Amino acid sequence: MRAVQYREIGGRPEVVEVEDLSPGPGQVLLDVTAAGLCHSDDHVMGLPEEEYVYGLPLTLGHEGAGRVAALGEGVSGVDVGDSVVVYGPWGCGRCVRCSAGQENYCERAAELGIAPPGLGAPGAMAEQMLVDDARHLVPIGDLDPVAAAPLTDAGLTPYHAVSRSLPKLGAGSTAVVIGVGGLGHVGVQLLKVLTGARVVALDVGDAKLDLARRVGADEALTSSPDAVGAVRELTGGRGADVVLDFVGLQATLDLAPQLVRVGGDLTVVGIGPGAPSMAVGFGRVPYEVSVLVPYWGYRQELLEVVELAQRGQVAVETETFTLDEAPTAYQRLHEGTLTGRGVVVP
Ligand code: NAD
Ligand code: ZN
Repeated sequence: MRAVQYREIGGRPEVVEVEDLSPGPGQVLLDVTAAGLCHSDDHVMGLPEEEYVYGLPLTLGHEGAGRVAALGEGVSGVDVGDSVVVYGPWGCGRCVRCSAGQENYCERAAELGIAPPGLGAPGAMAEQMLVDDARHLVPIGDLDPVAAAPLTDAGLTPYHAVSRSLPKLGAGSTAVVIGVGGLGHVGVQLLKVLTGARVVALDVGDAKLDLARRVGADEALTSSPDAVGAVRELTGGRGADVVLDFVGLQATLDLAPQLVRVGGDLTVVGIGPGAPSMAVGFGRVPYEVSVLVPYWGYRQELLEVVELAQRGQVAVETETFTLDEAPTAYQRLHEGTLTGRGVVVP
């Protein structure tokens, strides 16, 4: 079968022929119906050798949708032909975190050598993929796999991030979303659906600001130091109750603390390249600000995000590519010229 692989440090993703897969005991084989491109893939492919921990060659793709093609020995709970999406942050399934559905924070994954598909294990950017356990599969019914695959990260990650801050996002509150890309444009929608907040979106470039307005942002502003004054003005001088940074570049990490109000939440989701740093501490951020650095989301939250999409309350904007076009799509992601989420349909 064909797969999109990252094969050498500093290389570009390549479409290659790899061995066909067959499910071992407990595993599920999927015919991939869609695989999303995440900026984290770009981040991973930009890491120097000493920081790269995902193995080579790496079949990319941690946002997957598929149709169940075959079941390994002992698998129950899914049937051949089911249309599903894949929960990506696989854990041991048994530790305290995993038992609560928080496999993204599994306490034993590293020790047991468990890695997410596309970030250690072979990923979804291929004609087929193996899923280690049926519990990682969420049925999507009639939902379009192209729109559904990104829910597993571009949907789940902002859903988890917004969920942490719900108590601060009641009527009259203000939330700032920095970066209206794959994650951010879903984040804007989630804030509108789940909270009473006015949503202020910041990005660079008209296409991204148009997208922000299209998905429901109340204000869409150019991301620059001028945004500080604009957000102050919108909030009676106080600043935003919650600031979500879906970029994580030095520029946004410098900006975000200036946008948040006393007692607000400052959530950093983006992991921009290099080693950007955020200055927190007395006098560096407003009093009693909570800084959160979430990773991906909980298993049950993916079910909730899928439910929102099935009800039409959240919709991922996508641009589709064939498997052969995946390297071009990654180039576009790197250059920042994709709008919404790029999705490969093998
Ligand atoms: P994306 O490329 O789709 O979107 C990034 C957006 O940021 C683009 O719209 C871009 O125009 C915008 N941007 C760039 N510079 C900016 C600036 N200075 N100010 C405001 N906006 C700016 O990326 P994505 O796939 O949505 O991922 C977003 C970030 O989140 C990445 O760093 C990714 O690695 C990270 N991520 C983190 C987690 C997690 O669990 N913490 C999960 C997934 C992705
Ligand atoms: Zn665990």
